[in-house]
Amino acid sequence: MTQDKSWVSFFRELTEALLSYENKQEELIKILIDIGIEEQKLIDKTNTQKDEIVKVTDPLSFISLLFLQEHKKETRLDRFKELRNIFKLSTVVIRNPMLPIIQNKPWFIPHQKDGRKPDDVEILWTLTKQILQGDIAQDVFDRALKIKNTKVGKITTMMFILNPQKYFVINNGSIPYLQFKRIMPPGKMKQLNFETYLKILARLKKIFPNQDFIDINEEAYFWKENNKQYAKELIKTLKEKSDNNYADQEYLLEIKNNENEETLYKKIGEVPISKIREEIKKESQKNGKKAITTKRYERNPKLALYIKQFSKGKCMLCCKDAPFWVNNHPFLESHHIKFRSENGEDVLENLSALCPNCHRKMHLLQTIEDINKLVEKNKEILKEVGL
Ligand SMILES: [Zn+2]
Ligand SMILES: [Zn+2]
Repeated sequence: MTQDKSWVSFFRELTEALLSYENKQEELIKILIDIGIEEQKLIDKTNTQKDEIVKVTDPLSFISLLFLQEHKKETRLDRFKELRNIFKLSTVVIRNPMLPIIQNKPWFIPHQKDGRKPDDVEILWTLTKQILQGDIAQDVFDRALKIKNTKVGKITTMMFILNPQKYFVINNGSIPYLQFKRIMPPGKMKQLNFETYLKILARLKKIFPNQDFIDINEEAYFWKENNKQYAKELIKTLKEKSDNNYADQEYLLEIKNNENEETLYKKIGEVPISKIREEIKKESQKNGKKAITTKRYERNPKLALYIKQFSKGKCMLCCKDAPFWVNNHPFLESHHIKFRSENGEDVLENLSALCPNCHRKMHLLQTIEDINKLVEKNKEILKEVGL
């Protein structure tokens, strides 16, 4: 796929021009107002006086203000044109670039009220210079990350926009794809430092030796869109189905419950095994040997999450990777090996994580071989995690 890459030289040229404004930051604010950025986006909240238009800025905030989500794409292109005239740039952006966007809080510099430190602004200027040179110093990156308004996602977004030959973006848009390609470990990302960032870049280059970061970014985007579409269609088909078949009822309930699991996952993410062990011990002390719930269909979404976590993104029946990813993790469905409707218990020992195809198969066919396979796999997995 070939996309318009005119933005690459445009943003490089623009940033180079911006760098000569380090001592004239108020002029940059004026330019932002001139090209139509609302003054309310340029307010600096202070402790004592009334809020005022900010007097300091940096190139990263300047550029991310050009990508405000609420602005129309055409407006964005018009602004690029205006900036081209103002700074006498030679390149022009022809089409709207497919770029990662900072969804909210475009400013990298915190408000005075939020505790802006004296050297916050300066470090962002230094970082910008080093991004263009493609030679970021570890202490500069890590110091910039300590600024109250910055996050890894924000900083690496700008690194990618300003120097895509050298840097890739690591944000909510790209992480699922990086995890899917096993470039990053699954689960919630711990705070990243420069060293781990460089390791991720090295792995990216190793796994995609013939693609540049711009192509990989585009691929990640389409991968995510396709997944969304797939998940949407799957859920739609399931909702349309309403067999009166006994087993099918249970299946539909399980699928519905899956949505609760997803919400829970968003809240808690991956839980350390030690914590799960503790929790289960407590539960069994409370409820005798096993935690038994009374209602036939009742199920604990936490247990369902745990079994998925233990299966490490692989279906316990066909042993293949989950077919697609949702919310930063592989999509699998939890299934009771012995049906709840047939008095199967809601305990880890009776749970499995299945891909949607195998899950359907279990409810349609229920062969002894498959059931035995799941029982064995369940034992193996629980043993592996020490439960
Ligand atoms: Zn499967
Ligand atoms: Zn099931």
